[in-house]
Amino acid sequence: MTTAVDVLCRGFPGKADVGFLGWASVAIIRTEQVNVLFDTGAQGARPVLLQNMRKLGVDPSEIDVVVLSHLHFDHTGNVALFRNARFVISRTEWYYAMGNDQDVCVDKGAMELLVAGKVDLVPDDDTEIEPGLKVILTPGHTPGCVSLVVDKEREAWILTGDAVKNRAELATASGPMTLDPAATARSINRVKSIASRVLPGHDCWLRLTDDGIVAEEGLSVRINLPKGMDGVFDLVIEPGLYCS
Ligand SMILES: [Zn+2]
Repeated sequence: MTTAVDVLCRGFPGKADVGFLGWASVAIIRTEQVNVLFDTGAQGARPVLLQNMRKLGVDPSEIDVVVLSHLHFDHTGNVALFRNARFVISRTEWYYAMGNDQDVCVDKGAMELLVAGKVDLVPDDDTEIEPGLKVILTPGHTPGCVSLVVDKEREAWILTGDAVKNRAELATASGPMTLDPAATARSINRVKSIASRVLPGHDCWLRLTDDGIVAEEGLSVRINLPKGMDGVFDLVIEPGLYCS
């Protein structure tokens, strides 16, 4: 079976002091049968998402399945674009997010759209949603976080959403912004025990090797300021081994 996996929006692990950046990974998995999207990014990522889908020749109406890692705004901001899709969400996450006034990142607008749409609530671990694509439960960041395991030429490529937000979390099996640190540790260790390659919620592809975790590309962001203000700031993170 031919399966192509492409990143449509690059995740970024940085934080700002004026609010969440919310730059989350979005990926498309194309098999011979279906087009599957993993997460939809924040609304601010919409132009990039659409542009990169156009480059691959895929129209939003041609997305058959959207797997949502969890229901935070930076992963659900574009659910409105995928009107023909079946949305795969963990049952636990659905009931966690429904009517939740404590978690400020839950996307209530997306919830309203999802309630009116086609939602497929996954109750169990290890659920095959399409041939070669399996959802596993990876709680911690939120109670119902899921990851998608892509069976790729005898390797497992795992798209984790915020179960693993970045390379540091993958290396240390811990991180900030988790509701349950023990569950996060278990989830990250499980991902590491299965995966050859990991796409975190806010980082680039990471390959797990005998020598450690290797980032497959550099992360760069260009921030432009209006004319007359001071300069252009480039922030670049070099790829390489993560040393814990
Ligand atoms: Zn996120």
